Amino acid sequence: MDREFARITDEIKEKQEITKEQLEYIFENSDEENAEYLYRAAREVSEEVFHKEVYLRGLIEFTNYCKNDCYYCGIRCSNKNAERYRLTEEEILSCCEMGDKLGFKTFVLQGGEDAYFTDEKICDIVSGIKERFPDSAVTLSIGEKSKESYKKYFDAGADRYLLRHETANEEHYSMLHPANLSGAHRKQCLRDLKEIGFQVGCGIMIGTPGQKTEHIYEDICFMKELGPHMIGIGPFISHKDTPFKDEPNGSVEKTLLLLAILRLIFPKVLLPATTALGTADNLGREKGILAGANVMMPNLSPVNVRKKYLLYDGKICTGEEAAECNMCLRNRVERIGFKVVDIRGDHPDFLKN
Ligand code: SAH
Repeated sequence: MDREFARITDEIKEKQEITKEQLEYIFENSDEENAEYLYRAAREVSEEVFHKEVYLRGLIEFTNYCKNDCYYCGIRCSNKNAERYRLTEEEILSCCEMGDKLGFKTFVLQGGEDAYFTDEKICDIVSGIKERFPDSAVTLSIGEKSKESYKKYFDAGADRYLLRHETANEEHYSMLHPANLSGAHRKQCLRDLKEIGFQVGCGIMIGTPGQKTEHIYEDICFMKELGPHMIGIGPFISHKDTPFKDEPNGSVEKTLLLLAILRLIFPKVLLPATTALGTADNLGREKGILAGANVMMPNLSPVNVRKKYLLYDGKICTGEEAAECNMCLRNRVERIGFKVVDIRGDHPDFLKN
């Protein structure tokens, strides 16, 4: 056991802070024994806050039309091989109906930036869901909009918004996105969302081309400044019809290390064990929970569209019905000694007025 590794872990836990040097040390010295020390520390923190409970969020991927052209993403507008689809409001509601039967209390509507879904349509969908399932939380994940639009969604009843900032470093951002998109604007969106009163989620991919440890350090600094309710992280996985098709995938181990570090720095933050983590490693999501994650997002999209929402190659859970995914996840959670709870699972400090 490396004493220095243990000392650094303990210090991060105590101060809820990390330096760039400490982050480098962890990434460079994480043999199995060291990593396990860090995961155990993170697990202890998450058990204190969440008591081995895992929250589920039902994910509804309602459109794969997108006006953006992010270099990493399989549904980027210039991917002519992507077969595009949109769900109708009725189809979205019947996904929620199914989710409700399965016990889910949060519905996450995710999609590309699709102009077909005007603010009015989004608001109708949100208020329709809230009317039918008043005890459930509605989360939107539909990209960068104006503050006015965000306010309309909030007033229609949306509770939460997920918008990964992808990378806090502007230069790195420009390696991942075309010139019409900027990291500064994406960060501003997150600040707007928070100001409006949303519970917000930011986040990054691990191992995107050009990512350096100092970028991840900047990401952590940005997270500290933003104070998100959720942080979504998963490995980058290449997609064959994107400019990054030949780029190596992000590391599962590094994702787990960062999950654990984030748990130590942000004891109460909601940390999903993501689908990308489960795609990169069959037991990735379980390992994520054992490294401090406390949320999972089973797919509620209709089976006939699942394969079309392909952000990256090999995405798991594209062939099963929602009920099957639900059972599979619950079993996976139980097998490692945790339990799924059917509650909204708001951030512990979030008080709804
Ligand atoms: N249009 C929405 C949803 C984007 S998809 C938005 O802009 O927020 C949700 C997340 O999937 C992205 O934020 C990105 O971090 C992740 N993602 C996209 N392509 C990926 C890939 N190739 N590998 C891993 N994660 C990917």
